Amino acid sequence: MALKLFNTLSRSIEEFVPLDPDSKQVGMYCCGPTVYDSAHIGNFRTFVFADLVRRYLEFKGYRTRFVMNITDVEDKIIGRVREAKIPLREYTGKYEAAFFEDLKNLGCLPPHDTPHATEFIPEIIALVEKLITRGLAYKAADSSVYFSIDKYRGCGCVYGQLLKLNFDEMRTGERVKSDDYSKESVADFALWKARVPEDGDVFWPSPWGEGRPGWHIECSAMSMKLLGPSFDLHLGGEDLIFPHHEDEIAQSEGAGLQPSGQPFVKHWMHGAHLLVEGRKMSKSLGNYYVLHDLTSKGFTGREIRFLLLSAHYRETFNFTVKGLEGAQTSLARIDECLAKLRELAGNSQAPPDSTLVEAFSRALDEDLNVAGAWGVVFDWVRDTNRHLAENSLTPVQAAAALAAWNRVDSVLGVGAAPETEVPTELTALLDQRQAARKARDFKRADVIREELKAKGWVIEDTPKGARLKRL
Ligand code: AMP
Ligand code: ZN
Repeated sequence: MALKLFNTLSRSIEEFVPLDPDSKQVGMYCCGPTVYDSAHIGNFRTFVFADLVRRYLEFKGYRTRFVMNITDVEDKIIGRVREAKIPLREYTGKYEAAFFEDLKNLGCLPPHDTPHATEFIPEIIALVEKLITRGLAYKAADSSVYFSIDKYRGCGCVYGQLLKLNFDEMRTGERVKSDDYSKESVADFALWKARVPEDGDVFWPSPWGEGRPGWHIECSAMSMKLLGPSFDLHLGGEDLIFPHHEDEIAQSEGAGLQPSGQPFVKHWMHGAHLLVEGRKMSKSLGNYYVLHDLTSKGFTGREIRFLLLSAHYRETFNFTVKGLEGAQTSLARIDECLAKLRELAGNSQAPPDSTLVEAFSRALDEDLNVAGAWGVVFDWVRDTNRHLAENSLTPVQAAAALAAWNRVDSVLGVGAAPETEVPTELTALLDQRQAARKARDFKRADVIREELKAKGWVIEDTPKGARLKRL
C-alpha cells in the first residue's frame, strides 16, 4: 500500500514519492530546538512526530537520512547569554545536553545529523553572497543584509508557497530585523545582522562587517549542505510555516542551486500544537511542562511518548495530567499482554503474524492515522488476551504475535521494557546493593534500598535476578 501524507505545499494529501522515485532513500530535515532553555513537551510533540515519520518511512523500507539542527545562535539566545554573562557555547551546551537526554527518554531515535548553526557560518556567508550576486539581497545602511521580497517576486518566484499572503498590505521598502514576525508584517527579512553592542561576544567576520546570521538562513544553509539543494521532506511545528519556512524556501530557491524544475523541498509536513487548557503550550504563556516536571511526578518517558502519539499530528491536542494517567493505564495493558506472551513463547521463534502488522500499516498509510493504528493495537491486545485466557495459543503462535508487536513497535517506539528506562546511576546503585548482599553487608544493602526508594524505585526480585520498578 502506498503511503499518503498531507503536504503543506499543495494543501492536500498526496502519495509520498521521494524526489528520486527509484531510490528508497529519503532526505528529511526537521527544525530542531533553540537551545536557550529546556525544551517543553509541546516542543517534544513536534520532535516525537518527526521521529514517528522517520520510523514509519523506515518501516516502509526507506533508508532515511534525518537531519535535525540545533539552533545555537539567534535573538533569544543572545538575550539570555547577555543576562547569564557566560560564553555562548557554555550557555547553549547545557540545554543541548538536556535536550538530547530528553529526546532519548522519549524513545526518539537519534537523528543522523544534528548540525549546529554556529558551525555553518562559512556556508551561511556563501549563501548570502550568492543571494547578493543574484540581486535578491542587499546590504542596508545599518550594514545588515536583507532578502528583497520584491526582487524575488520580480523574478517570477512565488513568496507565499506555504501560506497565502496579501501583498496589497505590504509596504514596499519595509524591513524586519527580528527573527520572529507575523504574516501581517511581511517584509524584507534579515539574512545577516550587523553587530550591535548588545550582541556582546557573539559575532563573526563577514564580507559585510562583523555580525551574525539571521535564524532563517541557518536552516537553509544546514539543510542544503547536508541533504543537497533539493530534498524530500521538511518538518516542523505549524508555527514555523510563516515566516520561518516561507523564508527558507525563498532563500534556498532564490540561490538557484536546485537542478532545473526541482523545488527546495518536495514535501512539507507540519505538526499541530500541544495545548494546555486550549492555549498553545509556550514559555511566554508560562503554561508549560518540561519533561522533568512529569518524570518527577512518576511518569516515564514512554508514557509521555504514548500520550504525545495518541492524537493525529495535524490536530491540536490538549495536554492534561489525567490524559497521562490514561496513557499509563493503556501502556500497562500492553505490557501485561506482552509479558504473558513472552512467558508462553519461551524460546520459540516465529516470523511476525502479518494480520496485526498489515492492519497497523493500513492505518498509518492514511496520513499517519495514529488513532486507527492504536485502535488496531488495542483490538489485538483484547483478542490476544482472550486467546491467552482460553489457552488457545501455542508457544510458536505467541512468538509470532511477539514478532508482530516488535515490528509495530519499531514505529511506535514505546515497547522498551520498563527496566531499560531505569537511569544508569540507579542501575549502578542496584549493582552495589547486590554486591553488598553478596558480601553479607546487609546494613549497606538496606541503606541502598532506602536510597532507591527515596528516588521512587523499589527492588523486585525476579527469577532473572533483582530489577528496579517504579514505586
Ligand atoms: P523552538 O525551540 O521554539 O524553536 O521550537 C522547536 C519546535 O517546537 C518547533 O518545531 C516548534 O514549531 C515546535 N513547538 C513550539 N511550541 C509547540 C507546541 N506548543 N506544540 C507543538 N510544537 C511546538
Ligand atoms: Zn528551521
